[in-house]
Amino acid sequence: MSSTPDSGQPTGPEHVHGRYRMTEVNGSLYGLNRPVSLVPIGQLVGASLEGCGPCQAAALDTVAADPALAARLCDLVGTGYQLRLGGLPPTMTDPDHPVSQVHPQLRRYFALGCTLRTGEGPNARVPLYEFMCGLDLAERRAACDNALDFLTGILALPW
Ligand SMILES: [Zn+2]
Repeated sequence: MSSTPDSGQPTGPEHVHGRYRMTEVNGSLYGLNRPVSLVPIGQLVGASLEGCGPCQAAALDTVAADPALAARLCDLVGTGYQLRLGGLPPTMTDPDHPVSQVHPQLRRYFALGCTLRTGEGPNARVPLYEFMCGLDLAERRAACDNALDFLTGILALPW
């Protein structure tokens, strides 16, 4: 997504996109011995929905740099699709889908996620964290960028 010129967005240290405030998730979910702050994901979603390109790009860099944040972003897409549409469609979960426009690594991620037990207990999503660790930064960023499109799309659906 590109930025919107002359959008009148304020800039500076107080410039935040707080519409989607997120706190943190227990990192044990991904096999980590630390909480994972989700503030960058909230900033990413907020900036995207508010059309602020510079903040979106910066937040995407932050999310993509942390495999746990990248995994959480993609997991939120899966949760959103489950809640709103009953699950992910084959175009998003089939790594070999012939016509899918979904990023191949994102499809592999979702395909792997479908093989795991559900729930948020300790170590429930370690393989997904490891998958993200196995991607190089450019691939992870591209997969996150694509995941963001799906997440904002789900959030934009009327309730
Ligand atoms: Zn901004």
